[in-house]
Amino acid sequence: MCPLAELHVHIEGTLSHSLIRELARRNDLPIPPAARRDGPSSFGCLDDFLRDYYANLDVLRERRDFTDLANAYLKRASQAGVVHAEIFFDPQSHTRRGVPLSTVILGLSDALEEAPDRFGMTASLIMCFLRDRGPQEACAIYDEALAFRDRFIGVGLDSSEEGFPPSWFAGVFARAKADGLHRVAHAGEESGPEYVWEALDILDVERIDHGIRSLEDLELVARLKAEGMPLTVCPLSNVALRNSPADIAQHPLPVMLGEGLMVTVNSDDPEYFGGYIDDNFAALTRAGVIDGAQCRQLARNSIRASFMPEARKAALLSGEDIRVSR
Ligand SMILES: [Zn+2]
Repeated sequence: MCPLAELHVHIEGTLSHSLIRELARRNDLPIPPAARRDGPSSFGCLDDFLRDYYANLDVLRERRDFTDLANAYLKRASQAGVVHAEIFFDPQSHTRRGVPLSTVILGLSDALEEAPDRFGMTASLIMCFLRDRGPQEACAIYDEALAFRDRFIGVGLDSSEEGFPPSWFAGVFARAKADGLHRVAHAGEESGPEYVWEALDILDVERIDHGIRSLEDLELVARLKAEGMPLTVCPLSNVALRNSPADIAQHPLPVMLGEGLMVTVNSDDPEYFGGYIDDNFAALTRAGVIDGAQCRQLARNSIRASFMPEARKAALLSGEDIRVSR
């Protein structure tokens, strides 16, 4: 397998049942109801999933809990061939539980700093705003996070999509751009192409997270293709949340590739949706959705679409150097 970059993974969505139980014991907390169930969960929609997701986060309390969470992901990602990850985190889902922002950011950073030595890969953080908490709260958390400006490379927009348009967040994204931060946003997952347009035109994003419903708008497809705008697609997540047909063989990814879009494959919330990035590739290949050449194309796209330095991208793409540079 070619070296991979993972560009769409929520660190909170990598919280496994075994780690939930371990942290609950360590922090003397009850095990959340969703984590008491065995076997894979099923969700009717994004909001069903988010209910379990937020309940499970209660076990994350101390700085070392966030370090353990990130280390578990980095270990698993490195085993999947990931040489670089740009990891989302949701500070508001922790600060609203009374966990200080410093605990979250410093705990995650502790793991990321060690990733080259421990796991032979690099990783960066992208701070996401919970869109359903509105723009005022996003501005407030952004202000607070500026004290840790060197710990994250960009901002994103996630959580419940429908009814919470990207345009609400124009102000905080403009500030992030002025501050030299990268910008990405979830759009076109549950909502239609209009949210993708808003993310492009109003938030000035550099990647669209998901974006599968862009296919409903031919003018938008032409725009995305012309700009080489990366789309971080998460096939197993789309199936689990019923944003694409239940049979992964019907996933629109090959249509997106056929349209010439800059598509990448990612895991989203792997502990909830059936697997990590290699599991997504395996499911697509097994179902005959993509062939070997398309796998290699998707891997190259992931390197190109990342925010790594151009020199490292070139080295990875040429196959000359897949070693980690600090
Ligand atoms: Zn996501």
